[in-house]
Amino acid sequence: MKIGGRIKLLLALAISIALILGIYVYRNRNSEYIELSYNSFLNHVEEGLVDEVEFNNSAKLKGRLKDGQHFITDNPRTEDFKENLLLHDIEVAEEDNRAIAGQVISFIFLLSGVGVLGYMINKNSSKQAEREMATMSKVETGYPASDRVTFNDVAGNEEAKDLLKELIDFIKDPHKYNSYGARLPRGVLLYGPPGTGKTLLAKALAGEANVPFYAVSGSDFIQVYAGLGASRIRELFKRARESGKSVIFIDEIDALGKKRKDSGASGGSEEGDRTLNALLTEMSGFKGNEGIIVIAATNRVDTLDEALLRPGRFDRQIEISLPDVNARLAILKLHSRNKPISQKVDLRNIAQETIYFSGAQLENLMNESAMLAAKQRAKYITMEHINKAYFTVLVGEEKKDRSSITLEDKRITAYHEAGHALVAKRLSKSNRVAKVSIIPSTRGMGGFSLNIPPDRMYQTKMDIVNNIKIALGGRAAEELILGKDNITTGASSDLKRATEMALSMIGSYGMDEEIGLIDYNVVLNSNLDTGTSLMERTREFLEKLYMETKVILEHNRKYLDAIADKLLEKESLNEEELNRILQD
Ligand code: ADP
Ligand code: ZN
Repeated sequence: MKIGGRIKLLLALAISIALILGIYVYRNRNSEYIELSYNSFLNHVEEGLVDEVEFNNSAKLKGRLKDGQHFITDNPRTEDFKENLLLHDIEVAEEDNRAIAGQVISFIFLLSGVGVLGYMINKNSSKQAEREMATMSKVETGYPASDRVTFNDVAGNEEAKDLLKELIDFIKDPHKYNSYGARLPRGVLLYGPPGTGKTLLAKALAGEANVPFYAVSGSDFIQVYAGLGASRIRELFKRARESGKSVIFIDEIDALGKKRKDSGASGGSEEGDRTLNALLTEMSGFKGNEGIIVIAATNRVDTLDEALLRPGRFDRQIEISLPDVNARLAILKLHSRNKPISQKVDLRNIAQETIYFSGAQLENLMNESAMLAAKQRAKYITMEHINKAYFTVLVGEEKKDRSSITLEDKRITAYHEAGHALVAKRLSKSNRVAKVSIIPSTRGMGGFSLNIPPDRMYQTKMDIVNNIKIALGGRAAEELILGKDNITTGASSDLKRATEMALSMIGSYGMDEEIGLIDYNVVLNSNLDTGTSLMERTREFLEKLYMETKVILEHNRKYLDAIADKLLEKESLNEEELNRILQD
């Protein structure tokens, strides 16, 4: 009887403690923290409604309004943020370890209190409380482990992956390289069309090296207040250094590092220059043993300020192109991994029908298909869903006019590129053609062929003549196959390059016997009216080379057809495949 009374007393005590704690938790969850968008937070700041902000380094910030309401908002993590708060008379509390420890202890205490209460009343409700606590605490943990991206999440882009894989070791063990006196790479520039996986690759590098990933976008720096861009850059690097090894990712770097004109006056804005300079200074400031790699991405490498590309900055440049048919298949497979795809769906077929799709569009295609199937509660994702999704994805892309991509266009591109490659190969055995492709690159119009000229210090007259012929090879092939009236605009950038080369050869290098050893830049600067003879001579010269180029292709018509056919089938050929065709 006596013992029973004590138990009852203890029980009552436990229940009341648990009740109080339970109410506390309940209030904490329901009323204490409201989530404010960053924008509305700033409005509250402007209106003087914010009392205190608790400072930390995670994705979310906590604080209290003047009316006692607690809130959570996004952490902008900028240097000037704190100053801005202080200027508004807002109390800034640094969240220190003690506070965190206190939170953890009270958290455990609360959890057990709720547990006791829950056990007393109902097992189920205890589970629910725990679940709620779990979601609450998740806000604080910055990057959940499940978000980790690895190179297995990137399909295609094999060359880029190989190059980046070399960097994993640099990040993990910079001291090893230091002890050999090796200068560590600092910056890698990834360039190529949008949605081709540049961000994904950078994330994967961080994931593989198991270091934090810091990302900003160059466009965030447009129209910021004076000095703010520069201070943001410094803050970014400071945070990266504090966390030790890391990968810093700067997307759309062209917005930040536009080519500056000679005087520096009209290139970018003054503010843009300051931001860019801050970036360059930070990158030069690396001691090289820190294990920090900066990756930048752009889809327009031609507009970048050269200062960015110098040694010690973004001195490694990797092109990320649109996927060819094999890469598309790999990407489609990757993004159907966890989806119930019908056995009748032939991914290879889809890969063939999605030329010029980026990785992002392919991902989108599979996702839209899954959504359609889910909406209908279908058992599998079928070809019908995918066909429907195909049009949704294309309609969503207004940038490119898909209807213009016909089989005929593909055929023209194939012959054009085959023309460049074949001329290169037939002119000299030492000319290498690393890759021919009908997938457009940032460098060319329809497709591209990557010629690597022989490695020598001086260019001979013969080299220049050959390069001009290679450039003209695309147009020559078009004329041969389509006829004089059906040549296309696809050769415009080729003609630009050919003209530039011919003009320099004749007007600057003194390599034309008729014009002689004169440098026309000097003549033109002296305001003498002598431009016409140079132009006439250049025109004649290009015409002659064009005729010779056409003759090469006519003599090799069989090979031109063979390369074009293979290109239509495989979309891109490497050097080995090209040589094999030429051996027959
Ligand atoms: P970018 O930075 O080049 O614009 P992203 O890396 O942001 O492109 O790509 C967007 C999304 O598209 C990725 O998150 C991924 O789902 C998909 N994706 C793009 N390229 C690939 C690829 N090579 N392999 C797998 N998925 C890809
Ligand atoms: Zn061309």
